[in-house]
Amino acid sequence: MEPPERVAVVGAGAVGLTVAHDLAKNGARVTVFERDAPGGGMTGRAAGICYDAYAEDIDVAVADRAMARLRSLSGEGAFVFHDTPYVFLAREGDDAGAAALSEAVERMQVHGRDVSIVTAYELADRFPIRTDDVALAGVAANAGWADPAAYVDLFVEKCEAMGVEFRLGDAVSIRGDPPGVAVDDVVTARFDAVVVAAGVHSRRLLAEAGYPIALKPYRVQALVGDCDYRGPTVYDATDESYLRPHPSGVLAGDGVEPVEANPDDWDPTADDWFVRDSLSTVTHRTKTEPTVERAWAGLCGATPDRNPLVGAVGDGLYVAAGWHGHGFMWAPAMGELVAGEVLGDPDSSVPDPFDPRRFDGDESFAVVDGMTVDNDDES
Ligand SMILES: Cc1cc2nc3c(=O)[nH]c(=O)nc-3n(C[C@H](O)[C@H](O)[C@H](O)COP(=O)(O)OP(=O)(O)OC[C@H]3O[C@@H](n4cnc5c(N)ncnc54)[C@H](O)[C@@H]3O)c2cc1C
Repeated sequence: MEPPERVAVVGAGAVGLTVAHDLAKNGARVTVFERDAPGGGMTGRAAGICYDAYAEDIDVAVADRAMARLRSLSGEGAFVFHDTPYVFLAREGDDAGAAALSEAVERMQVHGRDVSIVTAYELADRFPIRTDDVALAGVAANAGWADPAAYVDLFVEKCEAMGVEFRLGDAVSIRGDPPGVAVDDVVTARFDAVVVAAGVHSRRLLAEAGYPIALKPYRVQALVGDCDYRGPTVYDATDESYLRPHPSGVLAGDGVEPVEANPDDWDPTADDWFVRDSLSTVTHRTKTEPTVERAWAGLCGATPDRNPLVGAVGDGLYVAAGWHGHGFMWAPAMGELVAGEVLGDPDSSVPDPFDPRRFDGDESFAVVDGMTVDNDDES
């Protein structure tokens, strides 16, 4: 089969932009359709935390490639990758959490990750955080954070340099067999392949075209606080909250609201309880007293097995979605894999466990936090 010459990418978030760039770099003529501005979806709301602390083969391979690429991009334009250790901890009294953490670190080490177990005393010695309530912690060295908006700006620039065409401002619909993109129900130019990277909207777009996928949006929240914090990124596995350093002081967020959200009708404003609880968590852990600069909510996409949905759903029709809150950090690797898959590159195809057709699309499943530390030993 001839590789596709003309490819449409729907969605200009971190994933769509990286896919578009990597397709164009490999010779495809690419048009990106985005109903908003680039980065106007969930990428613009992401915390930008990145790490390689995974315990399964495929996740490890994806994270390795993503981290290497993030580092190599650092310094291009205004994009900077900030090396920052990733501390994940279980608190005193959370015996199950501590046991799961210890097992997870062991498996990460087996997979060659630079991750170590540390006690509360060692943690206090190394980092400016409160540790008197910590039962056990893991520290991942290959980790950091970046500003997702700077990533978007960089990839828009890189796409334009590769000749990628942008069509902004229209919410498109998808056609299958042959694959196509329609604006106001009118099919646009002929495309040999269409990649749907529309984040949490991917399910509706594909369902309307007759390709159901198993994707459930869920709501998460974050805030930026003004204070002086120069410590590591910290994920508290006991209450599923996280914080990282930020130019204003600290960025903090929670785990998941374990209910399905409606991607067309959800509340983008942070809840009062979230702001109150997060401030108290940050004050406790960082020994600072931040004032809230801004707070917001966003949506992430869950799948039944927590693996993303990446690959063909039909002839020439592809999806890349369902990141469980990892879509920013995985985008640099997924761009290459999706481009390879679409262009038929035998050396760069998407791993089978990500195949979107492993589900019928009508599965019922519970939403689970993407950062959670557990002993889900599948590899
Ligand atoms: C508060 C919060 C914190 C997060 N923190 C992290 C983190 O620390 N690290 C991490 O890796 N991930 C994080 N995430 C997750 C991350 O934001 C997502 O996984 C990632 O941004 C997904 O990128 P995407 O390109 O798939 O989707 P999006 O950025 O949502 O892009 C999809 C695009 O498709 C467009 N679109 C949708 N429908 C249509 C249509 N019909 N026509 C045209 N365009 C359409 C949208 O406007 C949007 O711009 C966080 C998310 C939130 C909400």
